[in-house]
Amino acid sequence: MNTPSSSDRDLSQTYFSATASGPIDRPPLTESISADVCIIGAGFTGLSTALHLVERGVSVVVLEAQHIGSGASGRGGGLLIHSLESELDEIEARYGDALASQLGKWAFTGSGVIRGWMEKYAIECGFHQGVFFAASNDRQLNRLAEKERLWRRFGYRELELIGADTLPQYANSERFMGGLVDHGAGQLHPLNLALGEAQAIESQGGRIFTHSPVDTYSLVNSELSRHNDQHVKIHTPKGCVTANTVVMACNASEIPLLPELSGFTLPSPSGVVVTEPLSSTLIDSLLPQQYGVEDANYDLDYFRLTEDHRLLYGGGLSYGENSVSGSKGTIIKRIFNTFPQLETVEMDYAWTGQGIVTQNRLPCVGSFNSHVFYALACGHGITLPHTLGCIMAQCLIGETSGFKTFSGIDHRPFPGGKRFQAPLSQIGMAYLRLRDHLGL
Ligand SMILES: Cc1cc2nc3c(=O)[nH]c(=O)nc-3n(C[C@H](O)[C@H](O)[C@H](O)COP(=O)(O)OP(=O)(O)OC[C@H]3O[C@@H](n4cnc5c(N)ncnc54)[C@H](O)[C@@H]3O)c2cc1C
Repeated sequence: MNTPSSSDRDLSQTYFSATASGPIDRPPLTESISADVCIIGAGFTGLSTALHLVERGVSVVVLEAQHIGSGASGRGGGLLIHSLESELDEIEARYGDALASQLGKWAFTGSGVIRGWMEKYAIECGFHQGVFFAASNDRQLNRLAEKERLWRRFGYRELELIGADTLPQYANSERFMGGLVDHGAGQLHPLNLALGEAQAIESQGGRIFTHSPVDTYSLVNSELSRHNDQHVKIHTPKGCVTANTVVMACNASEIPLLPELSGFTLPSPSGVVVTEPLSSTLIDSLLPQQYGVEDANYDLDYFRLTEDHRLLYGGGLSYGENSVSGSKGTIIKRIFNTFPQLETVEMDYAWTGQGIVTQNRLPCVGSFNSHVFYALACGHGITLPHTLGCIMAQCLIGETSGFKTFSGIDHRPFPGGKRFQAPLSQIGMAYLRLRDHLGL
């Protein structure tokens, strides 16, 4: 893989946009068109919904405000982790066994979807198997052991608990004492996965328009129907889509299109830093297995190697802040804390991205009527948005069981009203960081 040298690189680029496998833009929408389904957002949730639908012969238009993968999907770290974000035992405790067992059936769907599409559409996105969840203390190790038992109960058998003796194979850092290896997880180039999915959508007749932010939508009565049927008109600055159904997959905390959900999600920005390419000797001394790594803190760090042997390091998660969190300086300190051997290494890329979080850390899925649907991922999100795309597509062709499960989750707004939600969440985050620090 060729990456630009430090001197000729556009510094606004992320490592992933600098190494994208194809064009990230499409022409904007400049006319009035129609489709069965219009999807807002070309991140993993929108692309997965669109690709599942075109595979079933449904006509689809995707409208994206910026470029393909411009949101969290193309800017994330690329760790492919099975997750509903909230752990299954927490879901059991909060919502009961029935919902936990229904959601548990979906916990591993997204990864299967991605692997299937990588193969079916020959998507080159540098997939490398394996993720290691690293524990820094006994409490975290016990929690990971519980996770292993819990996931086994839900039929997942790829986990291996390891101690200090095997640890250096997966993360040779003094910070850790053991952990849990997930041989079925992995790492990939998230933007190239998104671009491969976009191509697959287009190859089956789906249409994608970028730089086409949706301003408004409205329900209108069909002029041709005698049965007073309705459809949706979705407006961008220069064009309009008429569709039977709209799916909002726009992953934002302030969603002008979804005022009904105001206060149910908060922004959760974080940052990523990528080093210069490392020597194979250095890599062997840090991450011999070349598995991705995520620590077990609430305010977690994660890191992995890129295909061209750089260390990508992410973290600095925050809740409720719109401004830049996980700044370059913060992440670099964390890199040196984990691997002091890297103190002389150059940092070639640094960027931030914006995810969202819900109060129960579960995705927010639903509909306002039979034409207007939404699917907002939350937290960890390469596999989860692919699952959401699967259930949204199934729902729109009449298989509603997955949609009913996810839309049945009881979501509450963050406490504190519009004014105090963000500060209260930041206080909560500070408390969790203190717990990390004290090893609680
Ligand atoms: C820095 C960072 C690192 C991460 N690392 C990882 C990781 O390593 N592993 C992992 O599993 N998860 C990771 N995540 C989380 C994961 O990336 C997200 O949860 C996931 O990508 C969300 O996908 P999405 O499609 O729902 O949202 P997005 O990818 O954000 O897509 C939403 C799209 O909607 C578009 N949009 C919004 N409003 C409009 C509008 N009005 N009109 C048209 N388009 C609109 C946006 O431009 C955007 O492209 C990370 C997140 C961040 C921020």
